[in-house]
Amino acid sequence: MTPRQSRKAFQKAIAKERKKNRVVHVRLEHDDWCGVFSGSECHCNPVRCILDQDLKVKHKFYNCGFYDGVSFAAEHEGGFKDDTR
Ligand SMILES: [Zn+2]
Repeated sequence: MTPRQSRKAFQKAIAKERKKNRVVHVRLEHDDWCGVFSGSECHCNPVRCILDQDLKVKHKFYNCGFYDGVSFAAEHEGGFKDDTR
């Protein structure tokens, strides 16, 4: 799959879980050398994991490309709720 296809698959999987009114957790697994660990931007190709409410990994998506928080939020606008409120 191309990164674009992988991202689409990831988004579809989240949408599907949300339709079932389930809590969806997302975990990004960056490489050790990724810039996010030194206060910079992501320049690795993190694995995107979707976890259920018990934090068990349900889906893993490889090769989605860099993680960019801004476009990530836009892709999922209205899709994520801040549960710390
Ligand atoms: Zn990264």
